[in-house]
Amino acid sequence: IVAAHGIHKHFGQVHVLKGVDLDVAERELVFVIGPSGSGKSTLLRCLNRLEEPSSGSITVAGIDMLSPKTDINHARQHIGMVFQSFNLYPHMTALGNVMLALRKVAGKSRAEAETIARAALERVGLAERAHHRPAELSGGQQQRVAIARAIALEPRVMLFDEPTSALDPELVGSVLAVMRSLRESGMTMIVVSHEMGFARAAADRVVFMDHGLIVEQGPPAQIFENPAHERTRAFIGQIR
Ligand code: ATP
Ligand code: MG
Repeated sequence: IVAAHGIHKHFGQVHVLKGVDLDVAERELVFVIGPSGSGKSTLLRCLNRLEEPSSGSITVAGIDMLSPKTDINHARQHIGMVFQSFNLYPHMTALGNVMLALRKVAGKSRAEAETIARAALERVGLAERAHHRPAELSGGQQQRVAIARAIALEPRVMLFDEPTSALDPELVGSVLAVMRSLRESGMTMIVVSHEMGFARAAADRVVFMDHGLIVEQGPPAQIFENPAHERTRAFIGQIR
């Protein structure tokens, strides 16, 4: 469902992605790890064209993401993204935040948007918090609102960039639980995270990136217990 081939990205003189190939099958959960600055966020941002790759090809759900003919705003509806910072509108309730995306991006009527938004909040366990504003919610709850906002648009793929890194440790579990239930519902997911326990339990494949390249990939047990490359071994050793 995702096919990214030969992705290069330069920021001025800096060569950040150096020919990344990533194919993701429908319903697959791919977990991306690697040192700071290895290009993980840049890769995710290229996939939904928040960044323009310098070269390469990307198709998501059959849409050529790099073609000038592609309506990128329409294409992005198929790709949900959740960041470390939740980016909710502070003056709007949880329900309002989720509804806004449905009305602005998907062009739903108010009534339709409300029905869908309530169902999405229910899925992330926040039905009773629908009328709270972000400041009245915990970090974990705010992140779950951000997830609800993304899944309400019924994306074909969800991208997560360190979704739990900004959270207090006791709030991480609730977000991972939502991600796990999403995964069980068959959502295709690409997750950049340091939550190795989650990777072991939920990932189909772990991808290790270093210096703008995929160095090694495989099932979690293989990457964590028996990595083939020295750099992977060194990285796994550090984070353990
Ligand atoms: P981290 O684990 O710290 O989040 P990362 O693997 O996500 O790291 P990226 O954020 O993709 O790494 O950054 C890769 C490299 O690209 C870094 O050297 C970074 O400084 C550089 N970079 C990222 N975004 C930009 C930008 N907008 N302009 C210039 N350089 C950038
Ligand atoms: Mg990053």
